[in-house]
Amino acid sequence: MKIEFDLPDWVDSENLYIISRNELVAYKLPNEPWKIKTVRCKRCGECCKVHPKNGAYYPLKKDGSCIHLENNQCKLGMEKLLACVLGEHTGKEYSRFNCSIEYKG
Ligand code: SF4
Ligand code: SF4
Repeated sequence: MKIEFDLPDWVDSENLYIISRNELVAYKLPNEPWKIKTVRCKRCGECCKVHPKNGAYYPLKKDGSCIHLENNQCKLGMEKLLACVLGEHTGKEYSRFNCSIEYKG
């Protein structure tokens, strides 16, 4: 799918995201090109154990994992925080094992 937008200049310094349901599809950080997801998240839950993206909003368990992580799955489903959806691209950075997601710039 190809889409084109003529966005206002003030968004140049903003973070931009494209989301499908509760999955990040593409994002753009200030002064960087768009990054498009080519390989999807395999929902291993690893990034929610090591560095939960919602750590500033929800309490963590004693082991440091997110309180909403159950059997390696987010039990909030579609109700999970926008912060978790937008932070998906940091999964590779924070997971101890192989994160599946790939973005091309
Ligand atoms: S709310 Fe869900 S997606 Fe967000 S850190 Fe917790 S388990 Fe992970
Ligand atoms: S570590 Fe990567 S593949 Fe696993 S849940 Fe997090 S973003 Fe998805």
